[in-house]
Amino acid sequence: MDFNKQKQQDWQASTLAIHGGHQPNQHGALVSPLHQSATFVFDNAEQGGARFAGDEAGYIYTRLGNPTTAELERKMALLEGADDAAATASGMAAVSSALLTHLQAGDHLVASNAVYGCSFALMTTQLDRLGISCTMVDFSDEQAIRSAITPATKVLFCETPVNPHLTVFDISRLVDIAKQHQLITIVDNTFMTPLLQQPLKMGVDMVIHSATKYLNGHGDVIAGIVCGKAEHMHKLKFEILKDFGAVISPHDAWLILRGMKTLDVRLTRHCDNAEQLANYLDSHPKFSKVFYPGLASHSGHQFIGKQMKRAGGVLAFELDGDMQDAIKFVNHCRLMTIAVSLGDAETLIQHPASMTHSPYTPEARAQAGITDNLLRISVGLEDVSDIIADIEQALASIG
Ligand code: PLP
Repeated sequence: MDFNKQKQQDWQASTLAIHGGHQPNQHGALVSPLHQSATFVFDNAEQGGARFAGDEAGYIYTRLGNPTTAELERKMALLEGADDAAATASGMAAVSSALLTHLQAGDHLVASNAVYGCSFALMTTQLDRLGISCTMVDFSDEQAIRSAITPATKVLFCETPVNPHLTVFDISRLVDIAKQHQLITIVDNTFMTPLLQQPLKMGVDMVIHSATKYLNGHGDVIAGIVCGKAEHMHKLKFEILKDFGAVISPHDAWLILRGMKTLDVRLTRHCDNAEQLANYLDSHPKFSKVFYPGLASHSGHQFIGKQMKRAGGVLAFELDGDMQDAIKFVNHCRLMTIAVSLGDAETLIQHPASMTHSPYTPEARAQAGITDNLLRISVGLEDVSDIIADIEQALASIG
C-alpha cells in the first residue's frame, strides 16, 4: 500500500472514516475524483509489458484495480486494522470470495447455523456443488463447534450479532478454537462496521461486510468489502476476484467513500435511536419480547463495551398477537417503511416469517425462533419521537 499509512494509523476511527486512504490528486480536488474508466492507457508497449509483469506499479484494467476503488480499500483496511482490503460487487460477492480464497474441493467449512439467508444457500448448496462440504451448528455452543470440526475442516464462519435476534458470539473464544485446529476464521461484520467492532484485532483472519448497509448508508448501492492479511488478500484480489470477476463498479466505490464520511455520526444516531426505541418497546405491554443487545436482559449485553462498542441499529420484537396482527401492524406504519435491508437513513420494518425467513419450513422457522409475531426494525436517523409516534398510531389503528 503506497500511502502514508503510518501517519493515518494514528488517527481515530471517526477521522479515518473521512480521511483514511485519501491521496492528493492532480487538480487538488477536495473530493477524490471518480475514475469511471474500464481500462488505463500505457505510455508505450514497454510500460504495458512492465505493468503486466508486475515490474511497474500502476493500473491496467478496472477488474484488476482502480484508483477510486483503491481509496475505499485503503480506508477500510485502516479502519479494520487489516493489511489490505478488497471491494466487491455485493456483500454476497465478499462472502463467496472470502470462502473461495481458503476452500477448495474436498475441504470442509464449519459455519454458524444463523447466517444471512443467501450465505446459508451459498454454503449449503453452491459450495456443495464445488465439492466443499459445510456443517452448520449453534456458535454459542462451543462443544457443538468442536464436534463439527473434521480433519478436512479449513474455515470457521459466523456473523455477530446475528439477524434477527441479535445473538452475540464470543469472537475470542471462536479464535481460540480455530487456532487449536489451525483453522481460518471469517467474521461477517456488517451489523457493526469497524467503528463498533474490529474482529481482526481479536485474532480473526478475515472480515467481510455488506457495504450495502451502514458503510454506504444511503440505500443506493449494492457492494461488499473483504479485509484481511496481505497473503490472503493477494490471492483474493489477483486470483478469485480477477477470475470470477465480482468486482465493484468505481461509481459505487465513490458513493461509498462519500457515505463513509458520515459513518461515525450516523452510527451514533442509529445506536442512540435504537437504544431509546428498545427501551420504549421493552416497557410497553403490547410487545412481549424485545431483542436488542443494548438491553440488560439480552444475552449479548455482556459483550457491550468489550467485544462491541455499542449494540448497533437493528432490533427485533414480538407483538402481542398472531401473524395477522403482525402483518396488520406493519401495514399501518406510516413513517416506518416496509422493506428488508438495514443501515439506511430511513427506518425500515419487516416481518421475517413472511419475508426474509419465508423460505424456511415452518419447523425450521420455529427452531430458529422466527415466530409469526416477530418484527424487525432497522432503526433510521429520524427523530426517535416520530418513530415512537408511528408505533403508537399503528397500534391504535389495529385496536
Ligand atoms: N451479510 C449480512 C449480515 C447481510 O445482512 C447481507 C444482506 O442483507 C449480506 C451479507 C449480503 O449482502 P448484499 O445484499 O450486499 O449482497
